[in-house]
This record gives sequence, C-alpha cells and structure tokens, in this order.
Amino acid sequence: MGKQVHAMVLKHGITEDNAVDNALISCYAKSGDMNSCEHLFSKMSGRRDAVSWNSMIAGYIYNGNLQEAMDCVWFMVHSDQIMDCCTFSIILNACASVAALERGMEMHAYGIRSHLGSDVVVESALLDMYSKCGRVDYASKVFNSMTQRNEFSWNSMISGYARHGLGRKALEIFEEMQRSRESPDHVTFISVLSACSHAGLVERGLKYFEMMGGHGIIPRIEHYSCVIDLLGRAGKLDKIKEYIQRMPMKPNALIWRTVLVACRQSKDGAKIDLGREASRMLLEIEPQNPVNYVLASNFHAATGMWEDTAKARAAMRQVAVRKEAGRSWVTLCDGVHTFIAGDRSHPNSKEIYEKLNFLLHNIRNAGYVPLTEYALYDLEEENKEELLSYHSEKLAVAFVLTRSSSGSPIRIMKNLRVCGDCHTAFRYISQIVRRQIILRDSIRFHHFEDGKCSCEDYW
Ligand SMILES: [Zn+2]
Ligand SMILES: [Zn+2]
Repeated sequence: MGKQVHAMVLKHGITEDNAVDNALISCYAKSGDMNSCEHLFSKMSGRRDAVSWNSMIAGYIYNGNLQEAMDCVWFMVHSDQIMDCCTFSIILNACASVAALERGMEMHAYGIRSHLGSDVVVESALLDMYSKCGRVDYASKVFNSMTQRNEFSWNSMISGYARHGLGRKALEIFEEMQRSRESPDHVTFISVLSACSHAGLVERGLKYFEMMGGHGIIPRIEHYSCVIDLLGRAGKLDKIKEYIQRMPMKPNALIWRTVLVACRQSKDGAKIDLGREASRMLLEIEPQNPVNYVLASNFHAATGMWEDTAKARAAMRQVAVRKEAGRSWVTLCDGVHTFIAGDRSHPNSKEIYEKLNFLLHNIRNAGYVPLTEYALYDLEEENKEELLSYHSEKLAVAFVLTRSSSGSPIRIMKNLRVCGDCHTAFRYISQIVRRQIILRDSIRFHHFEDGKCSCEDYW
C-alpha cells in the first residue's frame, strides 16, 4: 500500500516536499525496507530537516542496524544541519536506544561547548541517555543539577532507578516529585508501581495504586499488570484474583503473561490451577506470539505437567509462529558489534567460540548447570545444551573478554528478555573473571557482580 501511495505521489508530481518525503521514509523504515529509505534520503540532500534525520536514525534502530544508526548520527553532527535543542535530543535518544555510552558522553561534551546544555529538553534527554546506558549515577548527577524540571525529567529519573533495581531510590524521587509543582501522570505510576514490585514493597505499592484516582488518573491495563506482578512476587494469589475481578476492562495477553510468570515454579495446587487458566487464556487471545508458548511450556515443564508441555509445543509448531530473533550487542571503540544465537559471522568468530567454551568449562567446574528448559526458544533443534551455550548474550560476553582484559565493567544490551540460563551463566562468569557485567534487556538492567545479580534472580 505504501508503494502504491508513493507511486501516486510521483504521478501527481509532488516532489521536493519534506513532509511527504519524511512520511515515506518513515513508512519504508517500518516495513523493513531501508534501501528505499536511503534512496529517498540521498535525494533530499540540501533540504533535510530534523524530522528526516530522526526518521532515518529511528528506522535503522527499528530494523536492528545499530552501527548504521550511529553512523547516521555521525553524519548528522558533521552535516550542515542546524544543531538546536531538538536535533540534539534526537541524537541523545539514538545513543540511549543503542546504549552507546561513549558516543553519548561525546555528545554531552559537544552540547556544553555549543551552549545547548542548559535547556530542560536537552537535560532530560541527557539524563535518559545516561540511565539507559547503564550509568544511573551520571543520570542522577544531571537530575540534581537541573534548575528546571519537566514531567519527562521526573519520569526518567524514577524509571531509571526502578530499571536498575533501586526501588527505594525511585520512590524517594517520587515523594520529592509530589512536593514539587509537577504532578505525576500515568507513566509516573507505571515506574512507581514497578519500583515497588522490584523492592518487594507490596503494601506501599497498593497504596500508590489507590492514590492514582486522587490525581485524576484512571488506572490502565499496564497499571493492573504492575499490581499483579507486585502481588505475584509476594505470593499473594488471592489478591491477584481479586484485582483481576476488579479490572473494568477484559484482561489482555499482558495480564495473563504476568499471572503465568507469577505462578511459575510453584508446586502449590491453587497456583497451578491459576497458571493453567492463564496459559489457556494466553494461547487463546494471542496465538501468534512465540513468547507465550515458551512461557506456557516452561510453566508446564516446571510444574511437571508434561502432557500440557507437549500440547503447547505442538500448538506452536502448528501456527508456525514468527520468532523475533534474540540479538545482543556491545559498543566498543571500533563500533557496535551485534550477535545472534549460534552466529559465526563475526570476523573474530573463532576466538569468540574458543573463549566461550573455555568460560563454560570453567563455570561448570564452579557448579553451573545448564537450564535446558530455556532451549525451548529453539524448539526444532535436537541438541539443547549446545544451543543454549551459544545464545547471543553469551557470545557478546565472550567477545568482550577476547578484546579486553582490564577490570572495567562489561556492558551488554539485548533486545529481548535475558533467558534464565544465560542469567545463571552470567552470575558464574562475573565471579570467575572478576568483572562486573551490566546487561540491559528489554525490561531492566541486571548488574552481575561476584556471582550475584542486582535483580536477585527475580525478573
Ligand atoms: Zn540464553
Ligand atoms: Zn538479574
């Protein structure tokens, strides 16, 4: 349809119109056709605006071409594009998405030199960039130095602390926000509730949930999901049922997924029943999402219901779900290095696999046992253990270790949730190589140090 519209545009002779070209770039990018984007973008030379650059960068990020995204940022900075607060925050957002900390810091310095540093939009983008790049300490420095704060700055700081597992700090900022002029919105409450969840503060979380009405905010499905997560962590099953009944809307897949996660690893009969119901609802509402089958299979396998496990697997084969490939990446001084599971395309592939096998051998001796149930991510394959060994995040860690032997922390990003097996392996690796590993997955940060993770194995 997009191509047909594009043809219409050409037929009517609408050329050199930025609004149209920018919209076309955005359309092609979201359809995965970056070649067409590049073609359009190259023809816009001389009349590109902030939106055009933003659409290109966002397109590369959306399609997982992270190195190209950062190259595009570089071109933008060195083009004759006027650098104002708006373009500057586009760049910082790109650094935050790719988690390119060094590039982000360079931009911070550039911003100071260009006198862009003291604008509230720029400062909020900076704070967000530091928090998403794993430096919540720098984020808090920026936050504390701000003379003016908007909703976005408060929300970024609260969610930054929550994502890093510093729930109590997040709540301190929230209390401070309530004393300020800014009033919390629905985004604030999502961060606040998830902070309570990570810190195990059930009563306080429920109190905040009830408080939302007083601020004129009607709880959305995301807020209910946070409350269910909170109750799940505390093992309060009856309350979960109560809140599901209280919901004014029909529970969606997100809610059932949260319920299913809350019921996992439980031998208690009532929880198994609830978990079963959740898995049934989930596969009914959203049969096309592979994550649901994996969750359902893991739940059934963990509770010993092999028959149901087999059913979930068979159902998954039948619908031939499209799996989003798990992708991990690291940013080093020579650019962004991306890995997918079992990937051998990296030029240093041989050294990486050698390093990884060496690490796996050592952590096995230290007591690590592969959690083969997580190999369900790749159902068709035979050799589960081998598959697990070469998950993208493990390849990324091994790669960094082939490059540097200094004691600095290893920073890894992943587009999906970290799997349980890699999580355990990372705890052991952090211990034997005596390095901190900071992993940002799609939900939160995991700081591994000395055999422990900041999430305390609940995520
Ligand atoms: Zn894994
Ligand atoms: Zn963790």
